[in-house]
Amino acid sequence: MTTVSRFNLSLLEHAPKVPGKPRHKTREVRVGNKVFGGSNPIWVQSMTTTDTFDVEGTVKQIHALEEAGCELVRVTVPKPEDAGALSEIKKRIGIPLICDIHFDYKMALAALDHPVDKIRINPGNIGGMDRFRQVIRKAKDRGLPMRIGVNAGSLERELCEKYGFPCPPAMVESALRYIEVAEAEGYHDIIVSLKSSDVLVAVEAYRLYAQLCDYPTHIGITEAGKPPYAVTKSAAGLAPILLDGIGDTIRVSLLGDPVPEIAAAFDILQATQRRVRRPELIACPTCGRLAIDLEKIIAELESRLKGKRLPVKISVLGCVVNGPGEAREADIGIAAGNGQGMIFRNGEMIRRVPEAQIVDALMEELARWEADNASRLPPADVEGLGRRKLPVIAG
Ligand code: SF4
Repeated sequence: MTTVSRFNLSLLEHAPKVPGKPRHKTREVRVGNKVFGGSNPIWVQSMTTTDTFDVEGTVKQIHALEEAGCELVRVTVPKPEDAGALSEIKKRIGIPLICDIHFDYKMALAALDHPVDKIRINPGNIGGMDRFRQVIRKAKDRGLPMRIGVNAGSLERELCEKYGFPCPPAMVESALRYIEVAEAEGYHDIIVSLKSSDVLVAVEAYRLYAQLCDYPTHIGITEAGKPPYAVTKSAAGLAPILLDGIGDTIRVSLLGDPVPEIAAAFDILQATQRRVRRPELIACPTCGRLAIDLEKIIAELESRLKGKRLPVKISVLGCVVNGPGEAREADIGIAAGNGQGMIFRNGEMIRRVPEAQIVDALMEELARWEADNASRLPPADVEGLGRRKLPVIAG
């Protein structure tokens, strides 16, 4: 039967069935043992909160960050004694070390005398193009990459006047200017950030930039504040950027201890499917229809899945309303009913188990899934796992 709709259904016919935008094509830039850009993973980084000259305190915090999964770390270098501590810090850590410079170009030059892996400067507050060029020349001589960190809060006055206020086009023009200066020096090991504490400004700035330039991007929402709001705000800003395919390294900026930044960053990458490193657990919020003790099951499942680096989707739903549908969409699923769980594999119901055996049954199915997919899974030590049934987004 042909039905006439008042809606333009041809739009749906031509819409992509598999969602997800391709990744912003960026050139590759090496930072220590990590390569940014191209199809490499979106690396997670953080920044210490210690005085950098306090080597013991700084190394201790970096070790805690490494333990949490941090892949690159930045330390501030405001004084000569901070620059003086860089060699010792570098010796004692296992991840690339980035020095962060504001205001004083001499600190940039001093830091570059040490075995750092990258320098981050904000050219807008470094004291003019000549000083910026001196830093570029030294970074080039040392063969080191640089992040050109444009910040809405410290944009050149001239660009603020041209555009009226520190808006996305002004930020992007600022970045492009510095890029051109660096390129004129024959320097191309550039990473760009366009930070703002305003989510809308940051998102638009990165979108604009990605249309114009191909140096890799460091993404983040600056000065996000105190968790938990800061995590939500970061996710609100970083998700659209990531979903647009933009971003080659990520930092979630939280007030206080930087260690929780790492889990937050990996969660954002996982939720946007830009870097899936662990099983995706789908669980319903529960309601009056709940037929099993879902919270207990999920807690046990989470603990048994800890450390498993598999891009598998597992759904556990509390009743038959959405359970079978969700279970069919997942790699492995459970739909509960009457104290039992119906187990699904790749959309097929394969067996029923009593509630007390649901977790064991899911773990058995997971072992089977892992064996069946062994040839498609990257080795455990390879970063940036892929994902199933999803658009191919490298990294
Ligand atoms: Fe409620 Fe069932 Fe939906 Fe869970 S799946 S929220 S129990 S209706």
